[in-house]
Amino acid sequence: MRTVFAILLGLAWANSSVATELELKGNFVQGGLVWGTTTPGATVTFEGRPVRVSPNGRFLIGFSRDAAPQSAVTVQFADGQTKYRKLDIARREYQIQRINGLPPKMVTPPKAVYDRIRAENRIIAQARTRDTAQDLFESGWVWPAIGRISGVYGSQRVLNGKPRRPHYGIDIAAPTGTPVVSPADAIVAMIHHDMYYTGGTIILDHGHGLTSAMLHMDRIDVREGDRVRKGEKIGTVGASGRATGPHLDWRINLFKARLDPAFLVPAMPTTKR
Ligand SMILES: [Zn+2]
Repeated sequence: MRTVFAILLGLAWANSSVATELELKGNFVQGGLVWGTTTPGATVTFEGRPVRVSPNGRFLIGFSRDAAPQSAVTVQFADGQTKYRKLDIARREYQIQRINGLPPKMVTPPKAVYDRIRAENRIIAQARTRDTAQDLFESGWVWPAIGRISGVYGSQRVLNGKPRRPHYGIDIAAPTGTPVVSPADAIVAMIHHDMYYTGGTIILDHGHGLTSAMLHMDRIDVREGDRVRKGEKIGTVGASGRATGPHLDWRINLFKARLDPAFLVPAMPTTKR
């Protein structure tokens, strides 16, 4: 009898201690991704919007390149209790990358292609609205290509002396034909063989609004809707679109927020795949 009572007491204890669970791990810095764990059934709100929570209580939040120094997460638990967690987001200094001597049409596109660029931007934006109820991002992460890092997240580009949009990807310089693999489990959300800026382009959906974009591909070996595993080959490095040489530009988005892919992987391996 006493044992049964002790067990019941133990269960009650366990229940009350998990009822308001909130754990956040990751990079509390501009461009960083944070992995949250909460009690299944809880509702998470970040920056005024509800965030998808998986059946086991996992969720993602991210901070854009120019995120404000303070943010917050609110969690409402099934029993009505609420937790409010203030977040401090570290500021970063971004590189300024000057590239001179580019052909003028690479710096400012000709008017004739404006409609094409707008249409392609819409396709990309659409693929980044997916909020798939699968936590494929839990697979772990690998570099999608092995090579020299020739461009980093957040750098401000000045092309022929004209300031342009910041660079949001990691550029991995590698010869044309170098394998590109999926950095994590994913569903192929979008493929396009010839976009104006990004050439052969793949968008991978890792679930909960987390997507990868692979730009300037030479070959694309997957189709829209394919399910791919972490490390599975999806194509090859190229120089398609407006690229100055063969490289993979890998980008990470959490919906519209552009995050730094470098936070998801260890240091670049020194040996080829
Ligand atoms: Zn790039």
